[in-house]
Amino acid sequence: MSSALAFQTAAQLSDQLAARQMSAVELAQACLAQVRATDGRINAFLSLDEADILAQARESDARRAAGQARSPLDGVPVGLKDVIAVRNQPLTCGSRMLEKFVSPYDATAALGLKNAGAVLFGRLNMDEFAMGSSTENSAYKTTANPWDTSRIPGGSSGGSAAAVAAGQVPVSLGSDTGGSIRQPASLCGIVGLKPTYGLISRYGLVAYASSLDQIGPFGHTVEDVAMTLQTIAGHDEKDSTSFRTEIPDYRAALAQRRGPWKLGVPKEYFGEGLAPEVRASVEQAIAWYRAQGCEIREVSLPHTEYAVSAYYIIATAEASSNLARYDGIRYTHRSAKSTDAIDIYHHSRAEGFGPEVKRRIILGTYVLSSGYYDAYYGRAQKVRTLIRQDFLDAFREVDALLTPTSPTVAFKKGEKTANPLEMYLADIFTISLNLAGLPGVSVPCGFSPEGLPIGLQIVGRPFQEAELLAIAHAYERAHDFNTKHPAL
Ligand code: GLN
Repeated sequence: MSSALAFQTAAQLSDQLAARQMSAVELAQACLAQVRATDGRINAFLSLDEADILAQARESDARRAAGQARSPLDGVPVGLKDVIAVRNQPLTCGSRMLEKFVSPYDATAALGLKNAGAVLFGRLNMDEFAMGSSTENSAYKTTANPWDTSRIPGGSSGGSAAAVAAGQVPVSLGSDTGGSIRQPASLCGIVGLKPTYGLISRYGLVAYASSLDQIGPFGHTVEDVAMTLQTIAGHDEKDSTSFRTEIPDYRAALAQRRGPWKLGVPKEYFGEGLAPEVRASVEQAIAWYRAQGCEIREVSLPHTEYAVSAYYIIATAEASSNLARYDGIRYTHRSAKSTDAIDIYHHSRAEGFGPEVKRRIILGTYVLSSGYYDAYYGRAQKVRTLIRQDFLDAFREVDALLTPTSPTVAFKKGEKTANPLEMYLADIFTISLNLAGLPGVSVPCGFSPEGLPIGLQIVGRPFQEAELLAIAHAYERAHDFNTKHPAL
């Protein structure tokens, strides 16, 4: 972006639009220029419809000129992970299977942004069908971490995180099934929120594991995340798991709720495998809260060690069912080799899905098969209940929990691709929240000696995003980690 605008927050850009210091078209042009200048190295975008972006920006300017700006986000560009449907835009999910698919309708979250006047800006790279932790499972390209382009940005919403971290868009949306918002936010040095399961409609979010999936925002600040959340949260008749709950003013809550809070530190999250530089930064953040008068208590989440196993049974089981619809018959890739119906299924799925997706379909089909269902899927569901109960017990004593987001800083491209299990462990601190349905936010809390970002995860009570974001905001305001940006 012309350097004057790149890395500004959505709140700052919103003020400038309101004061007519620039137009939405100028802002969109600046974002397009930053994408042109940097995306050859970052590879955050799968596609970008320039004409459509400028048309949306012109409409925003016309509304503002008529005194009809719809929200603070009117005219602000928002990037979307390529798994959230936008009418007449591609929806590849990072898969060859949907290479030519164009969405006929808007996801409810996309519609929320449109109704707020935001400019929907491009389609962002991701691991195929959101399965992965690095974007290396994308069928199209691997996104680079803006802080060190030889490293991964995290995943599966790696494009959404990298685009914000590289100053290409001020905010973006991702989806989080086991950590796919919080982990890339942490590795890219920005803020990422996974809301409570049910706060945001999943209508138009292509399903990976329906009982775990949730859409959420990325931004440079907690305030930007709060503003974006405001436009997408709320009950939707089109998603029967979306919850009827009062939606507070999240941005206003940041200043209103000031603590001091009772904060829990789960001892299971500080064991083996946690990189020393991550531990040191997270411990400093905990010490800061204590110095502000917060009561810090050690708590225990005893079933933590079973979370990765339970997750990879439940998530793959749901995925094997959800992905059955990609059969080559209707809107997906159809193999040229096919002659009869069964052949069409076989060849189209063999050609359309990448190796990680196939691995998960096979695993998920296995754990659901008769004779194994009780031993795997049934037991994993019981473990899931115990994990949720652990959190609810902890929340009887404390308002929120403080943990690392990721056990390490961003790793090198290729470092974990040969070993799926090692890749799965990248989500060890994030997946329990999806199993329990809880909200979690990652905020920057330091840098490693080589200058790579570190994230603090704060876990909140169900539907208490206003409190959770206020706790994160208090920390952010007193530190300057989020004001540092990569040299591109
Ligand atoms: N890395 C985890 C997985 O591969 C989480 C992905 C996600 O949250 N979408 O399943």
